[in-house]
Amino acid sequence: MSMETFEPLPHLKDVFTPGRSMEYRVRFAPSPTGSPHVGNIRSAILNWLFARHYNGSFILRIEDTDRERYTEEGVKAILDGLKWIGLYWDEGPELGGPFGPYIQSERLEIYHRCAQYLVERGYAYYCTCTKERLEEVRKEQMAKGIPPRYDRHCRDLGIKGSPGDPDKVIRFKIPYTGNTKFNDIIRGEISFSNALLDDFVILKSDGYPTYHLANIVDDHLMKITYVMRAEEWIPSTGKHILLYNAFGWKPPKFAHLSVILGPDKSKLSKRHGASSIIEFREMGYLPDALFNYLSLIGWSPKENREIFSRDELIQMFDLSGLNPSSGVFDINKLKWMNGEYIRMMKVDELVEVSMPFLKKRSWDRFPHEYLIKVYTLMQERLKLITDIYELGYYFFEDPHVYDENGKIRYFTPETKPHLEEIAERLYSLINFEHKDIEELFKAYAREIGIKLGFIVHPVRLAVTGMTIGPGLFELMEVIGKETCVKRIKKALDEI
Ligand code: GLU
Repeated sequence: MSMETFEPLPHLKDVFTPGRSMEYRVRFAPSPTGSPHVGNIRSAILNWLFARHYNGSFILRIEDTDRERYTEEGVKAILDGLKWIGLYWDEGPELGGPFGPYIQSERLEIYHRCAQYLVERGYAYYCTCTKERLEEVRKEQMAKGIPPRYDRHCRDLGIKGSPGDPDKVIRFKIPYTGNTKFNDIIRGEISFSNALLDDFVILKSDGYPTYHLANIVDDHLMKITYVMRAEEWIPSTGKHILLYNAFGWKPPKFAHLSVILGPDKSKLSKRHGASSIIEFREMGYLPDALFNYLSLIGWSPKENREIFSRDELIQMFDLSGLNPSSGVFDINKLKWMNGEYIRMMKVDELVEVSMPFLKKRSWDRFPHEYLIKVYTLMQERLKLITDIYELGYYFFEDPHVYDENGKIRYFTPETKPHLEEIAERLYSLINFEHKDIEELFKAYAREIGIKLGFIVHPVRLAVTGMTIGPGLFELMEVIGKETCVKRIKKALDEI
């Protein structure tokens, strides 16, 4: 291969964020086909941590050259998702940079020049094979039991053209013999036999490049030094190395991140709770918890604990912690971690992040002090921000159903007279504070000679509709006298 190098455009020096190391430039390069999923977000997080650790740059590049799968909402979902989880990219408008995110569909001319260059140098060729012909070749190969591949019909025909001619594609010429190798940071040397590679398309007849061409041209032009991406891209890397060689460019270093599986070790899917980033937000996960959890899949810090702040993760990030064996996504573990993050928050912060969720039920109409009291009691009990809907709705609405088992146990002819009496006494209580409420209950139990639980459980069921929850006297104080008494009286109608 020639060592001649080719530059399709002069490097735009002032694009790069000043003060950042040029040795550590990484990118996140999603295709906008929907909101990013667990695996994509994990790749983005590790790249971001790497860039921040080494004072490098984290570039966002939207790889939108597959026009059949492109959606505009996909791009928006990526940008919204990254911002929500706090992965701000460099060289983008958000940081005052002049460019970015980079959008491949806006860079077609560059890819055209590159593709044409490869044709002129004999590394690529125009192909006019029709879909029908390719289909026939494929069928014949299948019938003969050979793996289907392009039969290289046009390889030596010397067809002329220009990039984007509607009836032509440009294919890369894979050498007939030899091996193509690269050294993976996580996995060591990986080698491909050229004989098994296909003369793949680099420029399609719609004028758009394929992933392979656009990806490596941009990694080169954007001076990416480390490519950290999912393991599924390993087979493409052989083709990429051949492309780099053809251009005379030095390839970046590669680290292929291990695949993420479900706890049952099967392919990760929705049924494991693996959702898109936007769905996690809607389900009530906190960005910091999701960030923390996903950063530890396939990467292990040296310290043996699980909760790390972003700053700690940045400081500890180390390529040697990247694990070659598959990682596991366990939604229950993530939920647990989310609960830990909820408990670490200040209550007013918790109220603030809960606001959009309260709004959905119009519960945001309650005064701020009221919400603070509610969350002071509920903070311990929430794993997801949305848990308030189920576990704490009685702070905002009268119970519309009573727990079935609770009803059988606590709404009985024996408890009825006590509930009536308690309602009366509560109504006359001047200071409706938890200590006074507690005292009232205790005094009543003593007087009648019953256990405290005998009245506490039915009252809880009447006031909250549930048999579990925070301390009854505390929650009654928050809900207030009128409402508590009204609810107990309403429950009496059920008995
Ligand atoms: N556009 C590819 C994707 O959707 C990027 C793969 C890579 O990082 O090279 O994941």
